[in-house]
Amino acid sequence: MADVQNNEQQRLDFVRQIVADDIKTGKWDGRVITRFPPEPNGYLHIGHAKSICLNFGIAAEFGGKCNLRFDDTNPVKEEHEYVESIKADVRWLGWDWDDRLYFGSDYFEQMYAYAVDLIKKGKAYVCDLTADETRQYRGTLTEQGKNSPYRDRSIDENLDLFERMRAGEFPDGSKTLKAKIDMSHPNINMRDPVMYRILHASHHRTGDNWCLYPMYDWAHGIEDSLERVTHSVCTLEFENHRPLYDWFLDELGVYHPQQIEFARLNLTGTVMSKRKLLRLVQEKHVSGWDDPRMPTICGLRRRGYSPESIRNFAKVIGVNKFNSTIDMALLEHCLREDLNRTSPRRMVVLDPIKVVITNYPAGQTEYIDAINNPEDQSAGVRKVPFSGELYIEREDFMEEPVKKFFRLAPGREVRLRYAYFMTCTDIVKDSNGNITQLHCTYDPATKGGDSPDGRKVKATLHWVSAAHAVDTEVRMYENLLTKDNPDETEEGQDFTANLNLDSLKVLPNCKAEPSLAEAEPLDRFQFERMGYFCTDLAGTKEKLIFNRTVGLKDTWAKIQQKEQK
Ligand code: ATP
Ligand code: MG
Repeated sequence: MADVQNNEQQRLDFVRQIVADDIKTGKWDGRVITRFPPEPNGYLHIGHAKSICLNFGIAAEFGGKCNLRFDDTNPVKEEHEYVESIKADVRWLGWDWDDRLYFGSDYFEQMYAYAVDLIKKGKAYVCDLTADETRQYRGTLTEQGKNSPYRDRSIDENLDLFERMRAGEFPDGSKTLKAKIDMSHPNINMRDPVMYRILHASHHRTGDNWCLYPMYDWAHGIEDSLERVTHSVCTLEFENHRPLYDWFLDELGVYHPQQIEFARLNLTGTVMSKRKLLRLVQEKHVSGWDDPRMPTICGLRRRGYSPESIRNFAKVIGVNKFNSTIDMALLEHCLREDLNRTSPRRMVVLDPIKVVITNYPAGQTEYIDAINNPEDQSAGVRKVPFSGELYIEREDFMEEPVKKFFRLAPGREVRLRYAYFMTCTDIVKDSNGNITQLHCTYDPATKGGDSPDGRKVKATLHWVSAAHAVDTEVRMYENLLTKDNPDETEEGQDFTANLNLDSLKVLPNCKAEPSLAEAEPLDRFQFERMGYFCTDLAGTKEKLIFNRTVGLKDTWAKIQQKEQK
């Protein structure tokens, strides 16, 4: 029993271990409250998904709660559109904050009152240094800082000035409120950090009520404290800010959560900072935030990712304290594992060539049973129409087959999936010598795709009956960026120099089996032999469009094999 328990514990990542230990020792009276605190200045990306799955996952596993809190303390960059998209993305990933939706801006009044408390304690002062001067006074890693000439203002003067800052008496940038800590502190964040700056800007929620806005380090700990968060989980860049987080809460003498840092997710072949994603959108390198090539949650969704696959990816990569870059192939591996289990199989010809079966009864159509998902018996079978004129994939035929090409060629027999054996007898060409049609014969005795005499064929092709085919457009995607690390550029260039100009290829004339006419936006399928595809958001009303999610071949397995050698 003890062993089993130990094993259980070994499987916990270090954050979950802390939570488990705290529950055991009763540190927070058994409570677990986490939060996901996005800044509403862009759309969420796969990196955020890691944080979402960690915070909501911990709450779910330990009987706790996770708040969704918008860190909207910066007025200029935040927009309503982002708030709505973030809510939709968290829900789509499968998490729920119930009635615990919070906004940092809702705490502005309380934060202000706390700042007044610090001033009264002599722990904060109004400073007239400009931003540049503040930077100079701060010093560097090797050089200690200097005290601001305004550091010793009296408490009364500070209270008066701070109130007038709030009242709007001073222009932007003319004054700040600073914490009075230690200008020679080895941690630069502790050298009298700015708590408030003046900014005459409208805020998406508080309008023009404030011209005084709190800095992140000041605001964040208070938000956590007011929400009685137990474990405030953030990424490693904030490790150096933890002493300040602790200082503020200790000086205020308020409820004090524990900040825990973990390594952020980096993925090969993509960029993840919101600033860079915004550039891709604004400079029209992509069609929008939800372009299927974007690493945003809405982009992945439109590409055909399932929430399960993303949650499983988060589980597989785990949580630790060392920054590293995860291979995109691993994300795709998690995706394929899920799609293989769940997606219905369909036949779609992406680059069609017409086949006429010369010995098939003219005008006849028969309906053939096709298995919906060999991985899932319960998905059953569907009827697919078969007739004397079909489309097959152009690349499945070679007039002069090269070595190791086992598919259709003159005189050669292949299997049509679920249907019949078929032999190519003739090639029809146009005046330029391009092949326009193939003439074939079929063997009625091979119905269902089996030969009664044990005759073997080396290839099975997918096909679509020409008269019943649904026209569709298919969009094929490659990585948006060519390098594993897109920030690796020549002098004077930035990541956009590494954009893959062939990342989108549109196939306008594809032929789909008729059942796909009923596909709903964002339905996921495996097109036999061609990969996983997803109906585009634009829907199916005027035109059926599919996005290719991912190919069938699992490159992750290959990478693993190589590494084991
Ligand atoms: P960006 O660098 O994309 O601008 P950010 O950290 O400024 O991201 P926030 O909106 O502040 O974005 O992030 C909300 C939460 O998501 C934070 O707790 C942050 O630590 C976490 N987060 C952001 N990016 C990643 C990532 N790549 N991996 C894991 N967690 C992340
Ligand atoms: Mg941020």
